Amino acid sequence: MNQNTRRTEIIVIGAGISGLVAATELKEAGKQVLVLDKARGVGGRLANRRFDGAVFDHGAQFMTAREERFRFLIEDWQDKGIVEEWYRSDPDGGDNHPRFRGSPTMSAIAKELARNLDPLLQSPVIRIEQDGDEWSVNLQDGALIQAKAVVMTPPVPQSLAILDAGNVLIPGTTRTRLEKIQYEKCFAVMALLDGPSLIPFPGYLKPETGPIAWLADNQTKGISGLPAVTIHATGKYSETNWEGDRNEIARQLIEIAQPWLGSSVVEYQIHGWRYSKPIATDKDRCIAINQHPALIIAGDAFGGPRVEGAVLSGYAAAETLLQLRPSEETRGMISNRFNKTNRSES
Ligand SMILES: Cc1cc2nc3c(=O)[nH]c(=O)nc-3n(C[C@H](O)[C@H](O)[C@H](O)COP(=O)(O)OP(=O)(O)OC[C@H]3O[C@@H](n4cnc5c(N)ncnc54)[C@H](O)[C@@H]3O)c2cc1C
Repeated sequence: MNQNTRRTEIIVIGAGISGLVAATELKEAGKQVLVLDKARGVGGRLANRRFDGAVFDHGAQFMTAREERFRFLIEDWQDKGIVEEWYRSDPDGGDNHPRFRGSPTMSAIAKELARNLDPLLQSPVIRIEQDGDEWSVNLQDGALIQAKAVVMTPPVPQSLAILDAGNVLIPGTTRTRLEKIQYEKCFAVMALLDGPSLIPFPGYLKPETGPIAWLADNQTKGISGLPAVTIHATGKYSETNWEGDRNEIARQLIEIAQPWLGSSVVEYQIHGWRYSKPIATDKDRCIAINQHPALIIAGDAFGGPRVEGAVLSGYAAAETLLQLRPSEETRGMISNRFNKTNRSES
């Protein structure tokens, strides 16, 4: 082993909520776990950004909790002070599920989970290769980490690219399932205003038509001291304009949002989410691509297209891995039959 190579028991790729939940479960089961993420911070799509004194949630806006297991987790997070109820009754006449938000921001949940995991950040994985009964995980900086098992939680097209770069054998039926998974794109514009917005309490709006899907007032939401609005474009608009000039797109979305902004925009930034929410998901909560050495693929594309689904997929990935006996030589796909996806929409 050269000095650029290290070894661990399990590698979890991705410090988004699914990866962090899987890693926490595995660590609690006594496993040695290393979490890797390409980003500078943890949370993935549970993201917030700060500039000029304003704070924005610019990825996931809230969480709903349909399943008992996730409701218990939310209660635990509320006790820890990292989650609060944002609003309950939907003024649009929708369902009455409570909407929870991270406190102070959505990424607070990921930061709390990561405290016990010490993830290796700014460490993009470029390739995974099977090396006998281990996986060799290659990082962009040339480092190599060997592990008995790997859990992959990036958006599925990104995980597939990592696997294909290392010529990992994926059974045909599994590949077909993975290639069917699709995500919609989403532009998020963050606008700092010089006065309060016209977005009513509790601080969000869902325009019925046009290129804007969602507006949130982060000040009314309780996370920004300054008036700060997040604008999410629709999947259709984001797809059509994906290659366009980002500044131009931000200005266009701000102009369209003006009737709800009420005040002038002092500063703005734009972020493009290539994989925002899955629009075609898998029926199972995770897939074991290989049993020995174990390779599991998980994330919100498996558990249902939202934060709750990502958490449940993280649990399923850890449980599936713990069920696999190292002595099993069988290769090929096994689905997690015990954890079927709950497909109800929020
Ligand atoms: C704009 C937007 C709005 C949303 N709104 C809501 C909402 O209101 N309610 C809701 O419930 N859900 C919402 N979602 C969806 C929710 O954010 C996701 O379902 C959930 O956060 C997904 O978590 P995950 O762990 O599966 O994936 P991610 O959070 O994407 O985590 C994957 C991680 O893998 C890392 N990674 C990727 N490639 C590599 C690599 N090569 N090497 C190392 N690391 C890598 C990434 O950096 C990332 O941290 C929204 C998402 C977006 C983008």
